[in-house]
Formats: sequence, structure tokens, C-alpha cells
Amino acid sequence: MSQEIVFIGFGSNLGDRQEYCDRAVALMNLLPLSRVTGVSSYYESEPVDPQGTLGTTWFYNGVVKIETSLSPQRLLEILQETERALGRDDDNRHGPRTMDFDILFFGQQVIDHPGLTVPHPRLHQRRFVLEPLVELDPDWFHPILKRTASELLGDLQDTASVTRLVISPGSKYQPRPSCSSPYPS
Ligand code: ADP
Ligand code: MG
Repeated sequence: MSQEIVFIGFGSNLGDRQEYCDRAVALMNLLPLSRVTGVSSYYESEPVDPQGTLGTTWFYNGVVKIETSLSPQRLLEILQETERALGRDDDNRHGPRTMDFDILFFGQQVIDHPGLTVPHPRLHQRRFVLEPLVELDPDWFHPILKRTASELLGDLQDTASVTRLVISPGSKYQPRPSCSSPYPS
């Protein structure tokens, strides 16, 4: 089965934002047919909110890199189920959110379906996406814009504040060794 390198953006601006990001990272480690190959730092970012629906709480954002044999549609379904499991309010999808996932890139594929556009159409306008993406893979190539992640960051006009945090991503929920004995010897 063919494998693709995929970048998933995540963000939380409701409730315990670090807790939700830690849970999201832990759950990415449980995706079927997939393995996590990188997790960016967390970044605290000012809401970018042209419609004025997101509220005033700043986001925690980051990017996870995986290798997967899932299809793009199946991955999106699982991410949406995971958003719901993390308390995302489907009745107020554009309001403040405990967790939002976006598929940023799916290999070099270009996808233009009604429910799924890849590369994500706004990623190159968003500092809170490009900063963690560049941390993970500065040379990653945008198949439509024909620019690397670090070139896109260099071109960026977004002046919204984005600050890297000095906490370890997923620190609360690292996978445990699978063969450890529950009893001291
Ligand atoms: P936001 O734009 O704030 O992330 P949502 O998470 O509610 O809003 O996403 C709205 C819709 O965007 C979803 O129903 C999904 O079908 C669609 N969508 C299109 N392209 C993507 C993508 N690359 N990643 C995630 N969702 C996408
Ligand atoms: Mg989303």
C-alpha cells in the first residue's frame, strides 16, 4: 500500500488549550495505518478571524507530520471524529473550539473536492501554520505555489502575533513502553 507524508495542523482556543493539544498529539499516535514522524512545538497565536466568530482567547497551535496509508477522505473522517471526541461543538463550528484539525498537505497531491481541499487553501497566509511547518520541514514543497515552506514564511504578510512556547508537546501523554511489567521485580 502506498504511503504518503502528511502534515496536519491543530489548534485549540477553548478550555485547557495545552491539555487538548496534548490529547490531540497522543491521538495522532493512534491513527490506523499511520505513524507520527514529527511534532512541532506549540505556538500561542492571536486569533485570525475575519468573520469575528472565534472569540478573543488566543490559540495554541502546532503541526504534526505523519506517514500514512489512509486515503485523504478517510483521514479527514477520523480527524473530524477526533475533534468531536475532544469536545468540538458541531452546532457552533465556527465559534471557539477545543480542537480544530486541518489537513495541510497530503504528499504532493492536489485535491479539490467539495469537502476537502488540499493543500489547505489558506495555509500560506497563516503565520500560525507556517512557523510550526518550517520548524518540522523547511524544505517541504507546496505543489501549487511552487515554493518551499521557508520561502512561504519569508513571503508572508500576516502580522498576527505567534510565539513559540517552551513546553514539550504531548508531554503528558507520551506512549508508554508496551512490554513494561506492571509489577516491580
Ligand atoms: P475551519 O475552516 O475553521 O478549520 P472547520 O474545521 O469547521 O473550519 O472545517 C470546515 C470544513 O472544511 C470541514 O467540514 C471540511 O470538510 C472542510 N475542509 C476542506 N478542506 C479541508 C482540509 N484540507 N482540512 C480540513 N478540513 C477541510
Ligand atoms: Mg478545520
